[in-house]
Amino acid sequence: MYENIDLSAKFDNFKNVYLMEKHRIDSYKKWPFNDNFPCSVVKMAEAGFFWSGNDKENDTATCFVCQKTLHGWESTDNPWKEHAKHAPQCQFVKYGRKEKDLLLEEFLVIFGIIYKSKMQREINRIREVFKAEVSDELENFRTQK
Ligand SMILES: [Zn+2]
Repeated sequence: MYENIDLSAKFDNFKNVYLMEKHRIDSYKKWPFNDNFPCSVVKMAEAGFFWSGNDKENDTATCFVCQKTLHGWESTDNPWKEHAKHAPQCQFVKYGRKEKDLLLEEFLVIFGIIYKSKMQREINRIREVFKAEVSDELENFRTQK
C-alpha cells in the first residue's frame, strides 16, 4: 500500500536544512580541494558540513546540526577531527558516525535538534522585528511600571 511513496522525494523536503548527506554534498559549489584530499567534499559532508562559502571565500563550511562555521580549511584537515575540536558539544560529533552508520533513533534525535534550532532562530528573528516595529510603544510600556 505504500509502494508509490518516493522516499527520496520526501527527504528532498529537508534540503534547506541539509538534513541528508547528499544535500550537503550538493551544496558545495566552489570547494578548493578535490576527492584525493582528506578534506574532500564527500568527507566534509559525511562529517556534517555543508558549504557556506561564496566567490570570495570558498573554504567556509557550516555544520547542519550545531551550526558551527569554520573557514580556512586546509587540504590535509580531517573534517571529523576539526568538528570535534571546535564543537565538542555537537550531537553529530558525539555520535561520530556518518549518516549510513547512524541508528534510526539517532537520526531522529538529529532531526529534532535541527528543527528546534531552526524554530529558535525564527523566534529570535520575529522578536527582533517586533521590537523594531513597536519600539516607541515598548518605551512607554517600561515607563508605566
Ligand atoms: Zn556540529
